[in-house]
Amino acid sequence: MSGDPVSRLLATARGDAVEEPFRVTGVMMQYYYVCERELWFESRNVEIDRENASVARGTRVDESSYGERSQENLRVGMISLDLLDDGRVVEVKPSSALTEPARMQLSYYLWYLDRVMGVQRDGVLAHPTERRREDVQLNEERREKVKSAIRGIHGVVTGDSPPEAVEKSYCESCAYHDFCWV
Ligand code: SF4
Repeated sequence: MSGDPVSRLLATARGDAVEEPFRVTGVMMQYYYVCERELWFESRNVEIDRENASVARGTRVDESSYGERSQENLRVGMISLDLLDDGRVVEVKPSSALTEPARMQLSYYLWYLDRVMGVQRDGVLAHPTERRREDVQLNEERREKVKSAIRGIHGVVTGDSPPEAVEKSYCESCAYHDFCWV
């Protein structure tokens, strides 16, 4: 494949004729920061019990648990996000254990809205079980980090084999545990 992945992603998202379309979902952005090897498995559609694994590891939460203000789910091209009634994009996570992956997922949504839709929004990262929330804004540093992650994701998902397994505290509850450590 050729061309800058960021340019190809933007062209794909805008519906331009692209020889080799490239898509990144919010979940892919999250996985890139959780574990590149997991991202690779996910990109190959390796069959696992994803729901149970995500719940066990705390990367997914029932959206109704946010419960403080009404939400609207919006599907925009390759991303699907939740809006609070004040227009901010909200990402809900059950615990702050994996905050940076969630922060990057949210930053990607803000970047995508800005670059593809021309819509500027702020975000909020909510941890309802901890009664904690964090404002996330798309500053220059975050923009650069999102673009660098898109290029990194491209490198991982186009690889012929998965990146080496690197042990992490949450491997035990990962859906791909047996592919790495058995
Ligand atoms: S078990 Fe650990 S190294 Fe393997 S995919 Fe999961 S998080 Fe990554």
